[in-house]
Amino acid sequence: MSVFSHREFDNHQQVAFFKDKKTGLKAIIAVHNTNLGQALGGCRMWPYATDEEALTDVLRLSRGMTYKSALANLKLGGGKAVIIGDPRSQKSDELLYAMGDFIEGLGGRYITAEDSGTSVPDILKMSQRTSYISGVDKASDHGGDPSPSTAYGVFVSLREAVTYKLGRANLQGLRVAIQGLGNVGYRLAEYLHEAGAELFVTDIVQANVDRAVGELNATAVAGDKIFALDVDVFAPCALGAAINDQTIDQLRATIVAGAANNQLATTDHGQLLHNRGVLYAPDYVVNAGGIIDVYYQRKMLSADYSAENYASDLSTKVEGIGTTLKEIFARSEAENLPTFVIADRVAEERFNSATNCWQPTRSNAPTATQSYSKSV
Ligand code: NAD
Repeated sequence: MSVFSHREFDNHQQVAFFKDKKTGLKAIIAVHNTNLGQALGGCRMWPYATDEEALTDVLRLSRGMTYKSALANLKLGGGKAVIIGDPRSQKSDELLYAMGDFIEGLGGRYITAEDSGTSVPDILKMSQRTSYISGVDKASDHGGDPSPSTAYGVFVSLREAVTYKLGRANLQGLRVAIQGLGNVGYRLAEYLHEAGAELFVTDIVQANVDRAVGELNATAVAGDKIFALDVDVFAPCALGAAINDQTIDQLRATIVAGAANNQLATTDHGQLLHNRGVLYAPDYVVNAGGIIDVYYQRKMLSADYSAENYASDLSTKVEGIGTTLKEIFARSEAENLPTFVIADRVAEERFNSATNCWQPTRSNAPTATQSYSKSV
């Protein structure tokens, strides 16, 4: 398995492999870039078919975190961890403690949080062996779940895109199609309903749709019909690759803004949206409310940072997503390049120009005298 020449390697600063015979833990931590600060990203547990598949996933995801945090204006770098195994049958307390030891061994270069296959209780178990964790803070008032902040960030983004593309300051009567009414999608629907938008919704779980119809006066739409609706905005909040060969020609919305990760099946689809005059709000800018929340939850672990600081810093930073999007939209138009290309450039400008690279503290390192006296 090649690492340095891997197609997703992209100048990662560190890739660490860990195997613990006793607990069966097999894990990889990838640290893409720490120019802006410690690398923060979730720990995914997944039954990868091969080690190669796990490596590809962790490299791709950790690079994405560098870009997401830079675009969110956080003093954070990008990293990610994967545990190779089935979370339903292979997770144990001992395995999570061993993962905590692995994270601790990197000395703070990487900070973990929950992701697919791991939960807040899992991260709390890791925290018995490492302090480099986040996304578990009860003072965040959702027990560490960042979804409410993600939803608010999507709402802010959607509003910004509407102002830019449609020149309207309010959302009264705006027609929005939402695919996926889960933790983020349902809360987004609530914000939009409150702002007077008309909602069209779909979900594979009928109860979610029924709830939106009952509580938010939404119109239920069957499955794939969601793409072809005559609406102003399409908000993908379910799975990745919603914009693909089958769906792109059906779209009638002139704005795409939603929470789902990796909405474009390929970059060609982003170019096509641009060519057709559809304003695409890049997913990793739009859905950064979650990482922002996790960042401030971690700050609350320090004694001088209160829950009040958390609440006000969080909302200011999440609202800042709108400012970054405005810059991206304007540059995209001025340079006639797709928004996702401009978003990457903005992120690269931010992390490449950062000078205060994160370094481990030296408090635990042996002094010169100690190390020499051992060797004599
Ligand atoms: P979730 O699992 O709570 O909700 C997803 C919803 O989509 C579910 O209700 C599910 O039934 C529905 N769904 C799945 N497939 C569907 C389909 N084909 N058609 C219609 N509905 C479908 O997840 P979430 O936390 O709300 O996250 C939504 C998206 O946002 C995901 O792509 C996630 O990766 C991304 N995201 C979430 C966060 C966060 O803080 N939760 C942060 C960043 C990105």
